[in-house]
Amino acid sequence: MKTLVSHFATLGKNFYTSLAPQGLPDPYSVCTSRAMANELGLSEEWMASSQALQAFAGNTVPEGAHSLASVYSGHQFGVWAGQLGDGRALLLGELETINGSFEIQLKGAGRTPYSRMGDGRAVLRSSIREFLCSEAMHGLGIPTTRALSVVGSDMLARRETNETTAVVTRVAPSFIRFGHFEHFAYRGDNEPLKQLADCVIERYYPECQPNANPYAALLAAVSTRTATMVAAWQAVGFCHGVMNTDNMSILGLTIDYGPFQFLDGFNPAHICNHSDEQGRYAYNRQPNIAYWNLFCLGQALMPLIEQVAGSADAAQASALEALEPFKTEFPAALQSKMQVKLGLPDMQENDKVLIEDVLKLLAKERTDYTIFWRTLSTSQASHNFEPVRDMFVDRAAFDMWLSQYQQRLQAISGWEGRAAVACSDLMLKSNPKFVLRNHLAQTAIEKAQVKDFSEVARLLKVLETPFDEHTDCQTLAGFPPDWASHLEISCSS
Ligand code: AMP
Ligand code: MG
Repeated sequence: MKTLVSHFATLGKNFYTSLAPQGLPDPYSVCTSRAMANELGLSEEWMASSQALQAFAGNTVPEGAHSLASVYSGHQFGVWAGQLGDGRALLLGELETINGSFEIQLKGAGRTPYSRMGDGRAVLRSSIREFLCSEAMHGLGIPTTRALSVVGSDMLARRETNETTAVVTRVAPSFIRFGHFEHFAYRGDNEPLKQLADCVIERYYPECQPNANPYAALLAAVSTRTATMVAAWQAVGFCHGVMNTDNMSILGLTIDYGPFQFLDGFNPAHICNHSDEQGRYAYNRQPNIAYWNLFCLGQALMPLIEQVAGSADAAQASALEALEPFKTEFPAALQSKMQVKLGLPDMQENDKVLIEDVLKLLAKERTDYTIFWRTLSTSQASHNFEPVRDMFVDRAAFDMWLSQYQQRLQAISGWEGRAAVACSDLMLKSNPKFVLRNHLAQTAIEKAQVKDFSEVARLLKVLETPFDEHTDCQTLAGFPPDWASHLEISCSS
């Protein structure tokens, strides 16, 4: 690997514990993302070398690395959980590339001072899920941390059963979470809190610096990015599953893939995390939870906002104002995502109703979310709406909606000419054919557990370009099998 640098380490000892990875015995490569390697400037040759394998297994430390586990705290399921930290992730350092600077993190490379009761390991099952979903989200155009590789080992870890272990190499400009700020704020450590905020502003949000109150500006900027991210989740039918504040990226990236799920049938109240008994992180609650989490971040930044604002009252007003972007930008971002899903060139008066009506219909019939949108798109392209109509039991209700939709389309200027083609093109680029459904991941995992990694590779290929047809992979775009609904995905990973 090229030489790493370490900006995070320069923050100092308050922020982390330095320690070497504890690698995996007899590692084998499970999968790598060539696209990610390319972006990092890592050659295919090196990626295939035993040097790379040992580095990604945590058995050797790349040149220039300063491996460390960072400390953070957080609210888990709405309750203050105190100190958490990287219990099984190790930051190696950053690679400076022509595409920017990227932190390289090993997940599953042994215990750290923040492991609490955990073993510091990640099992192959959850590592494949994280790897594939990171790259799938990137393929969908949704802000996310990335994955470079998964390396497996026959070493076992105890979960519900014994499972083989793995290390995922994750990549992001930064893995800093809301919880990093909460950690110092709750201890009243305003110095490191300021140091962290200044560092984040300088490196990732330089546009906030000239603001009268840069910390309030930071909160506003994070609100905006988070709004964009969650709008993208909602539009594609993605449930994160564990939106604790320690799983919220300060860069507005989807982070920490655990019991996530892409919706099969459209159920707005769907809960994907088997351990989430109250449904706190149900699909339709994600936007409110994101706002709640931003509020926690606001509270954590309050001492800094107050230092600049001069008084507690002024700081509070300033923080509340900084959270406002979420309230306006989330609905605006979601609306614009739904607009392109429908292939509309702009938003008009009644379009909101058109969107609401179709979602109501999907919810009533639990219509498969991904297949509905893709079939609507291909129907639009072929002028044959029978396949999408066939998805509904209540055809009269669907026909009523379709006729309203078609009236709206036909009113677009130039509809008889190029506008119709532009509409179906837009739809085919906005409604993916492939998403990482639970059963697809499960099938790939079961094969990988007997050392057949071909299905992981096949899935990666379609998920990297999920809007393409991939006609040879038709089965990956089908309805979930009956057994899929019995899959229980918990936090255990
Ligand atoms: P998560 O629910 O995956 O976001 O994890 C919450 C906290 O538990 C974080 O501090 C993780 O580092 C830690 N954690 C999760 N699994 C393990 C494990 N197997 N070993 C050590 N720490 C873990
Ligand atoms: Mg986490």
